[in-house]
Amino acid sequence: MISEFELIARYFTKASPNALLGVGDDCALIASGRTIAVSTDMLVEGTHFFHGDDPFLLGKKALSVNLSDMAAMGANPRWATLALSLPEADESWLEAFSGGFMMQAENYAVDLIGGDTTRGPLVICVQIMGEVDAELALRRSGAAVGDEIWVSGNLGDAALGLAHLRGEIVLDESDAAFCLKALRDPVPRVELGLGLCGISKCAIDISDGFCADLSHILECSKVSAVVEFSSLPVSKTMEKYRAAPLGERAILSGGDDYELCFTVPPEKSAQVEAIGKRFGIRLSRVGRIKEGEGLVVVDEADNAKRIRAAGYEHFR
Ligand code: ADP
Ligand code: MG
Repeated sequence: MISEFELIARYFTKASPNALLGVGDDCALIASGRTIAVSTDMLVEGTHFFHGDDPFLLGKKALSVNLSDMAAMGANPRWATLALSLPEADESWLEAFSGGFMMQAENYAVDLIGGDTTRGPLVICVQIMGEVDAELALRRSGAAVGDEIWVSGNLGDAALGLAHLRGEIVLDESDAAFCLKALRDPVPRVELGLGLCGISKCAIDISDGFCADLSHILECSKVSAVVEFSSLPVSKTMEKYRAAPLGERAILSGGDDYELCFTVPPEKSAQVEAIGKRFGIRLSRVGRIKEGEGLVVVDEADNAKRIRAAGYEHFR
């Protein structure tokens, strides 16, 4: 049986050029002349993923969801720590898990600089740190009356994938593959977040559902919003389900999309479009920030929709 220290040395000790000192001492040492953005996200078996899920994709996703928080702040990710609770030291699992994590770390030039490893239920806790200019950070409190609301990518595909796994819907083979990829292998919008610094003042990543996450912006910015349902971006797969209650719920309230929702004043919209072209990311204008409070989603006839389900909340 591999020991704790062999495990750390074999799977989680890599070169860390962004740090003065990486894995192996009581603390890592990092230095930066800039403001540091810090965020933590935890993945718990049974809550965020299923027993037996592919460990490579799980390792990759554990970092991706944290990279998504960096993106939503407009921060450049640089360092991460990884706290792991494992039922057993299964080497083939660890090999795949660390492979996925490290591959994504390399993709985004993030150094794994420390962590903790204990025995227990399967829990993966990543802390990520990155650099940002404090004045340019994309804060939830940054939306202003008159701003346009934009969304990257498509909404709801991950939620459709989850509904398929739960047997609430039966997707054909290619739709299932597409939606399960969205669920298991989300793409963090890091370059988009960086590109929005100086253009937008406000962003959030859509992890709990579009309505729930946009509502966080509205509360923090003390404003309201009107969103047109028909302008919300969806994939070809979702197009087939858009009119159905399950599809509508996935678009408005599905979690795990990891797209960015951000606001910009209307005079900046050409710059937003240019960024979308530059990075090859679909960017859609979906609504407006107004005075007051609350979120209204309207249909094509301008009637307010009842929002059927709120976003995911752990303690409800
Ligand atoms: P301590 O006793 O100070 O908590 P540990 O023995 O737990 O230190 O860890 C030894 C070193 O390995 C530390 O530098 C720690 O940051 C690092 N480490 C432990 N677990 C992990 C992990 N899962 N991923 C990356 N680094 C880890
Ligand atoms: Mg420790």
